[in-house]
Amino acid sequence: MMTATTTDNFLDYEKINKLVNSARPDKKRLLEILTKAEKLNGLSTEEAAQLLAIDDRESINLLLKTAAKVKNEIYGKRMVLFAPLYAGNHCTNNCLYCGFRAANKDIHRIKLNMDQIREDTESLIREGHKRVLLLSGESGHYPLSYTMDAIEAVYSAEVNGAKIRRINVEIAPLDVDDFKTLKTANIGTYTCFQETYDPELYKVYHPTGKKSDYNYRLNVMHRAMEAGIDDVGIGVLFGLADHKYEVIALMEHAAELERHFGCGPHTVSVPRLEPAPGSAISQEVPFPVSDDEFRKIISIIRIAMPYTGIILSTRESVEIRNELFEYGVSQVSAGSRTTPGGYSLSGEKENKQFSLGDHRSLEEVISNLTDSGFIPSFCTGCYRKGRVGNDFMDLAKPGLIKKFCMPNGLVSYGEYLLDFAPGELREKGFKLIESIIENIESESVKEMILKSVNEVKSGKRDIYL
Ligand code: SAM
Ligand code: SF4
Repeated sequence: MMTATTTDNFLDYEKINKLVNSARPDKKRLLEILTKAEKLNGLSTEEAAQLLAIDDRESINLLLKTAAKVKNEIYGKRMVLFAPLYAGNHCTNNCLYCGFRAANKDIHRIKLNMDQIREDTESLIREGHKRVLLLSGESGHYPLSYTMDAIEAVYSAEVNGAKIRRINVEIAPLDVDDFKTLKTANIGTYTCFQETYDPELYKVYHPTGKKSDYNYRLNVMHRAMEAGIDDVGIGVLFGLADHKYEVIALMEHAAELERHFGCGPHTVSVPRLEPAPGSAISQEVPFPVSDDEFRKIISIIRIAMPYTGIILSTRESVEIRNELFEYGVSQVSAGSRTTPGGYSLSGEKENKQFSLGDHRSLEEVISNLTDSGFIPSFCTGCYRKGRVGNDFMDLAKPGLIKKFCMPNGLVSYGEYLLDFAPGELREKGFKLIESIIENIESESVKEMILKSVNEVKSGKRDIYL
């Protein structure tokens, strides 16, 4: 399909193109790959490419079963929750899929001031959120100093003693010095999607603006990690190119970061292209990804990169989200708005970046998760304890992360139930917490969690290991 032209490009396009055409594995080979995956050592891109080629029901079901097993083994039943907060929708880029692109003259452009950011944050805090993803368009309206102030405004917002405890950031790529400055703002993960790894198609979808420089974007995580940002999140906007190509290239990207920095990405995001105001290609998706293909994609990423979080947004419908939780998703947004000021400014619901498939409130999402036996988690323990980057991976690999995440998840869930949930949800939530504690084998872990839950019940807050 395409060839790299510049020197600072680490992707081997010949290899990717070859792997895209991998043959379907026979039953024996399929079982070999899935057995390897069950050992939690991940997969090579060659093996993932073979899995991408399977198309019969029986093989897909085996894949989904393996993914569910791996997911459960590493993450247990915890599901981390967060909300996006859009600071502004001015943009000088022209990404053909996005409602914020410069050429779209039909939306009202808005940049939140610091009071408005605090108000939006307070609305999220009142719902019970503890983790925020801060986003904006790319424009002179949003110099780094603005983002730094916005981060401070989010952290400073407070409602009845409750605060946001972790801010992840998804802004346009920076250079190394600016990433060094961003790091001082105490952020969690820096996230940026390549959108598509296919350089030719990338050019088509990003005709003008700074974002049209494919290589600058491709190397963004190298610059971020060089600047000392420990946790980075990569992703693809599925629908822009052949999904097999994207999964293989994304895995190569992750492997390159691991080679170069000794640590791969902390998270992978898997957005699918959704209808956006004034965007023709978002109405007629160039490379549609069916639900079945999407299940496969998530399962393959889960078993190929078992220790990397997978983030699913409210772009997806309730039904598919519920299903994908089982196969590999470990973090989800809930109660989201993709408009700046969408949580607090009246009349600002229309200037959205794209449409959502899940319109439920945080409370409804939590109630559904509880019914399915998941632990809705607001834990921010790892990054506040310095378990980030390599340290996180060192802990995650021997399975220890489950030992931190599960207790922290349970305790943060208990906090949510006491502070924000109505009576019925509180009751069923604590029943779930009790039954999970009951089934813990280790008496010492059981005791330790019970002690923390009781401390939360008696009014202590923000307890974490
Ligand atoms: N403006 C920055 C950038 O592009 O990197 C920050 C992130 S942008 C606000 C968030 C992400 O939204 C983009 O990276 C893109 O993948 C996604 N997005 C844009 N239009 C979309 C659409 N129509 N459907 C789904 N996701 C979309
Ligand atoms: Fe701007 Fe980001 Fe939208 Fe592209 S995806 S138009 S850079 S906000």
